[in-house]
Formats: sequence, structure tokens, C-alpha cells
Amino acid sequence: MLTTRLFWKIYATYALVILVTTVLVGGLVASSVYRDAQVSITRDLRDRTVLLRDITLPLLAEGDADRLQIQVAGLGRETATRYTVIAADGRVLADSERDPATMDDHRTRPEVLEARSRGEGTAKRFSQTTRDTRLYLARPVYREGTLVGYVRGSLSLQKIDEQLDRLTDRVLLGAVLASVIALVLGFFAARRIVVPLLGLNRATEAVSRGDYRRRVPVTSRDELGELARGFNTMASDAQERLDAVTEERNKLAAVLGGMVEGVIAVDADERIVHINRAAASILGAGTKPLHGRHVWELAHALDVARILTDSLREELVLTGKARLLEPGGERVLELFASPLRDGEGRITGSVVVLHDVTRLRRLEEVRRDFVANASHELKTPIAAILGLVETLLDDGDGVPPEMRTRFLERIRHQSQRLSALVQDLIALSRLESRDREEDREAVDVSRVAADAFHSLAPAAEAKRLDYRIETPDEEVRILASERDLREAVENLLDNAVKYTPEEGRVVLRVSRDDGEAVLTVEDDGIGIPPELHDRVFERFFRVDQARSREVGGTGLGLAIVRNVAQSLGGTVSLDSAPGSGSRFTLRFPAVTEARLGS
Ligand code: ADP
Repeated sequence: MLTTRLFWKIYATYALVILVTTVLVGGLVASSVYRDAQVSITRDLRDRTVLLRDITLPLLAEGDADRLQIQVAGLGRETATRYTVIAADGRVLADSERDPATMDDHRTRPEVLEARSRGEGTAKRFSQTTRDTRLYLARPVYREGTLVGYVRGSLSLQKIDEQLDRLTDRVLLGAVLASVIALVLGFFAARRIVVPLLGLNRATEAVSRGDYRRRVPVTSRDELGELARGFNTMASDAQERLDAVTEERNKLAAVLGGMVEGVIAVDADERIVHINRAAASILGAGTKPLHGRHVWELAHALDVARILTDSLREELVLTGKARLLEPGGERVLELFASPLRDGEGRITGSVVVLHDVTRLRRLEEVRRDFVANASHELKTPIAAILGLVETLLDDGDGVPPEMRTRFLERIRHQSQRLSALVQDLIALSRLESRDREEDREAVDVSRVAADAFHSLAPAAEAKRLDYRIETPDEEVRILASERDLREAVENLLDNAVKYTPEEGRVVLRVSRDDGEAVLTVEDDGIGIPPELHDRVFERFFRVDQARSREVGGTGLGLAIVRNVAQSLGGTVSLDSAPGSGSRFTLRFPAVTEARLGS
């Protein structure tokens, strides 16, 4: 507190006022006492000289200096006053304190000069005779209108000086005492003002630094107390408002942060004021702080920056597209930019929403391709059947019987192809549209594998294959729809039989491996080049079109297998090389006894 300027300002003013007041009051008292004393001495001298004039008149008129001296000396002694009687020519005729013979001409004394002109004269001066400061009062003496001389009385001012000194001492002592008390009280008075103000000052600083929880104690009911109360109300209002704003901001940040769409807001200078996680990741900006930077500084964001600029300049809601080239392929974004306005409708920035439609586009493409492929696949056998049937109908009688039989066999073959295609399409659409959890039960993989194995045994026998199945003694169970699982195994076995030359080998194995049911179909057939391992699972993909058609393939078998594997939470993998056979492996999470029981 003692280091604050305010304290010293208040305290110094207070001290100065006290000192000036004390000195003024003391001075005024002293001067009025002095004046009063002089007035009373003058009055005294006036009375005494009137008496002296009357007493000394007869002797003065006679000019009897000796008797006058005796008379004046006696009066002086008795009234403790110095009296002087002066002749009209200035000679001193008598003096109560000094031998008149030794005294000079008194006509020029100021009091005598004044007495002559005005009837009474006073003077104050140091007397060489009595060696002190005195007040003189002289008056003229007339007899029958003629000036016969002057009488003069004088009293010492020594006493009033002494009295005044004593008074001054007392006034000074009083002033010092009063000052000390007043200064001590002043210290506390200044403190009462300064301490709460310092508290307020510190609290204001804290609030301006952002500490809205700071409050000041309300210690009095005066204006300072009111100020403190006002401050506290203001701080708590500000805190409430800030809390509300922070909550709103957090909510907004949470909403923006949780959005799948990217959101970027820029100010009027096109500097980023907000960018959500999705936008940063779409634009490949990572987790670097981007606040305050321009959108065009981000790689790949030129289209986004452009639409923001346009919507700011044209003050319009704009939509657009952006294509980002990425290592994994092209990313397609739909952009929606809108200018931001403040409460008064002025443009303060712009916001753009980035909608990643890459997946949607890809799905659309896949669907389009699928429809085109399926139509094409269906069109070929239908056209063949139609052609054959028309030939038979048009030229029914002219066709030799063996040709007719060949035609009919081709019609049957194409119909079987059509039927297989339609069946596979139905199976695929069933797998894609069905609720995945539906129809699930604990299925013994070995039993389903054995059923599938037996259903393809005739085809394997026809090719004289070494056709085998290996299953474990214990049951290996998974949660699945039996029909789906069988469909997948049959497709794998069908492929293995189809793409393995006569007298080749096809083995179906079921085993359990670390909590997983493993099912492998292995053959020593034509194999698949490694670069096509992923693609063979695509719909309608065939390594060799002609060969697949010849053996009655639809190009959908492995797509069905992959679909089943994924829908059951499992995987399918391929191990193969041209000429050295293929091994397809299905893995599913096995059901443990504990899980079964629950
Ligand atoms: P398809 O009905 O033509 O057999 P799939 O989807 O079942 O169609 O298989 C896709 C392609 O993968 C087949 O056309 C074939 O070229 C190849 N393929 C599948 N299984 C085998 C296998 N066991 N051995 C060699 N090639 C295979």
C-alpha cells in the first residue's frame, strides 16, 4: 500500500491541509492576541496621559521644572509607567526614568510631531533609555489656547512579547500534537480508501487477464462498497455470459468436430478461423494448427479456396465440385459455400462444407458396371437360344434330325448357363439385401463341408479326380446360416473341379486354428497369376473368359464366396500360381463351448 501513488496523493493532501490549517489558525490567534494587547495598552496610555496632562498643567504653565520632575517621578513609580513632560520648544522638563538634563530635543519625536498636528500621537520603538521596545503616546498641553508643552506616557511591550511568545509556544505545541494525531488518523483514513481501491485494481487486472472468478470483498456501505458490489455483479455477469458463450462454442466445436462433412470458415481476409477434423483430414492437412492461414496454402485446396473467394466476392451461396488427386485414386468432393454475415448484415467471412462423395461415386460406378455386365451376360445366352429356336421354327422340317438334336443340346446348354447365372444373381442379391444376423445358428463346419463335398462328388468322379475330404474328429462350429456356408464351399469346390484337369487332385480340409474355423479347398489345377488374386473375387471377373464359359462359369462364384466370408465376420484368401494349383482358405471365428452355453 505504501508504494502506491494514490495513497501518497491522498495522504500528502491531507497532511498539507492539516499543516496549513494549524499554521493559519495559530498565526491568526497570535496576531489577534497581539493586536488586542496593543489596543488595550494604547487605551491605558491614553487615559494616563489625560490625567498627567491635567495634573502637570499648573507646573508646566509656570515652567517649574524641578517640581515637575518630582511630581512626574512619583507618578511614574506609582503607576509603573514612564512619563515625560516636554516644553513647547522641545526641551524635556521632566522624565520619570531619566535625568531630563541628559535628554535631547524631543520636538522631532514622531509621537510628538503627530500629537502636535492631530492632538494625539503614538509610536512604537526601541528605547535607548530603558533598553526595551515600548509604546509611546503623546498629547499637547494647552493653556487658554496656547501650547505650553507636551506630556508623554510610555509602556513596555516586553510583557506582551513575552506573553505572545508563550502563546506561540502553546499554539505550536498544540499544532504539532494536532498534526501528529491528525496525521495518524489521516493514515488510517487514506488506508480505508486506498486498500479497497487496491483490491479493486488487482481484481480488475485479474478479470482483464481472463480470471472472471475473481471477486472483491465488500467492506463498507459507502460509495466504495457500492463500487465493490457493482464490480462483483459485473464480473459475475461477465462470467455467466462467458460461460454461456464457451458452452455454445464447445457445443458448436463438438458438432463440427463430429461431422463427417468437412467445414472450413474464413474471415473477410480469407484466413481460416475454423477448420474441423474432417476438413483437415480430407485436405490432408494432418493435425498442424491452421488457424490464421489462407486456405490456398493447403495443398490440394485450390478449388476450395476459389469457391470461398467467389462466395465472399459475389455474396452468394455457391455449390461446386473439387477433385483431389491422391495416391489411392481420385477423391471427389461436393462443395457448398455460403457467406457469413454479422448482426448488421455485413459480410464477415465465408464458410464452406466439403462433402466427400468418392465412395458414393464408386458405388454408383460399381452398380452401373454390374448392371451393364449382368445385362451383357444375360443377353448372350438369350440371343443364342433365340437364334437356335428361330432357326428350328423357321426351317423346322428342313433340319436334319441329328442337327436338330445338336441345336436342342445347345439350347439346353445356354439355358443351363442362364439358369446358373440367374441363380448366382439371386444368391448375391439375397446375401446383399438380407439382415446379416438373421438365420444364424451354431453350424458344424465339418458337416456342411461334407454335404458340399458329396454334392460335387459326381462332377469330380466324371473327371476321375483324386477327390478327398479331411475333417477333424471334434466338431468345429461357427455362427452362420448353413445355406450361405454351403453355397460358399460348393462354389470353391465347383471351381476347383472345373479348373483342374482330369485325374488331378482336389482336397477339402476343415481344421481349427487358434479359435478360428479354417476351411481350405486345394487343387493342383491351372492356378491363377498372383497379380489377379484380388480381382478374381470381383463380380464377373474371369481369368480366361472362353474357358470359364466353356466349363459353365458365371464369373460370380468367388464374389459370392467373398460376400459370405465377410457377412460371417471371416476372411477369404488365395494362394496360387499358374500351373501349380490354387488354395482358397476361409477363416471364421469359431464358437467356443462357453459362448454356445450362454
Ligand atoms: P467362374 O464362374 O468363372 O468360375 P468365379 O468367380 O468362381 O467365376 O471365379 C473367377 C475366376 O477365377 C474364374 O473365371 C477363374 O478364371 C478363376 N478361378 C477360380 N477358381 C479357380 C481355381 N480353383 N483354379 C484356377 N482358377 C480359378
